[in-house]
Amino acid sequence: MDNSEIIIFDLLVVGLAEFFRPDTQYQLPKYPYPDFLQRASNTLALKMTTFFYPRTLEGLLALLEKPLQTWYPLVIPKEFDSEYGLIYDRALSEEASQYFYEQLIKRGQLPEFASVKVQQIALENFQFLRLLDKLQQANEQDAERSQREYVLLRQFLITNPYTTLGQLRNTFSQTRYISIDDVGDLYEDCKENESYWCCDHCGPLIKKHGHLRGIKPSVCNDHRKNLSYVRRISEKQGLRRLKFGIHWRVCLPGIPEIRLFHALEKLHKQQPEYLCEVQLWPGIDRYDLGLQFGDGSVWAVDIKDYRNPYDLALQLKPIFGEGDLRYDESFYVIPNHRLHQRQDYIEILREEATGLPKSTHLFSDTAFEERVRAKIMHLRDLRKNKVPAIREYLGSA
Ligand SMILES: [Zn+2]
Repeated sequence: MDNSEIIIFDLLVVGLAEFFRPDTQYQLPKYPYPDFLQRASNTLALKMTTFFYPRTLEGLLALLEKPLQTWYPLVIPKEFDSEYGLIYDRALSEEASQYFYEQLIKRGQLPEFASVKVQQIALENFQFLRLLDKLQQANEQDAERSQREYVLLRQFLITNPYTTLGQLRNTFSQTRYISIDDVGDLYEDCKENESYWCCDHCGPLIKKHGHLRGIKPSVCNDHRKNLSYVRRISEKQGLRRLKFGIHWRVCLPGIPEIRLFHALEKLHKQQPEYLCEVQLWPGIDRYDLGLQFGDGSVWAVDIKDYRNPYDLALQLKPIFGEGDLRYDESFYVIPNHRLHQRQDYIEILREEATGLPKSTHLFSDTAFEERVRAKIMHLRDLRKNKVPAIREYLGSA
């Protein structure tokens, strides 16, 4: 693959990520273009002799919104789905955000030319990884406490995308491995006299042209203010909001994890002899949920929320299960909304995820809950019917 062409692509994504940073109210600058767009557009112009090349910034932004496969003249990295554009609704598109966070930042592949501001976004993201690393190290000598603190931290970030210093103090004053400042650094100050909104399905919302917009439209894209899951955050002094990268990488994927956890906890409370324990993120996030049943069997569950089943299939591998994390069956669980978007989602996944062992099952979250219920019923019937079943058998014989 031509590396210099990939650099141009990365330059565009990084530049647009800065240009459309959600916390800055950008103003369309007059000509000349911002520096990165100038550089990228010069190269594109050279390659686009046969295309109409836009002469204004407005025109260029309109072009960047179109599916790349319809116009982009250079190599597109395979990690970017070219059916999508780089921007959407005057913000970085979901596909471009995914590329920015999952490819460039997470893998530390931020190009050298990235500006100080972009380096800053990357640093913010490493603050969480640094904490995770600290807890994983502590896990070797102090497994129980570090695990407890990890669950506390992660659950807090998912369920409190807005917080205050007072709440941080109340929650993290007794923790040994995590300081109040560590967690505080994952948030940024909200502006005074500004109203803030949150969606129960996708977290903090951004105001755009008088509308509320979610962080990832493919997860959730209806944010009319009168909907029950769209909430206005009451004004508080010193209100803080999760930083964008933490929202994207920790809070958003955590929402279906916590939802399934609560549903299973409810089953556990109803039938503690059969579903004995539901553990969140065992082994500091080796997998998402560990279920222990009355017959001693253990299930390991990972929840994966990807728009595209082909992309997800590439990520699926056997779930880690050594030592204390040993399990009998493992499950990849897909949030229902993905199956509404694409009914053959699970079939595609089953066909494409060829590296998975037979003991790993693929389910939607409702189907998985049903499976757990069926297991509980089975265990209950086994116990209840052991004696009557034999009697019945003998009676009918
Ligand atoms: Zn939402």
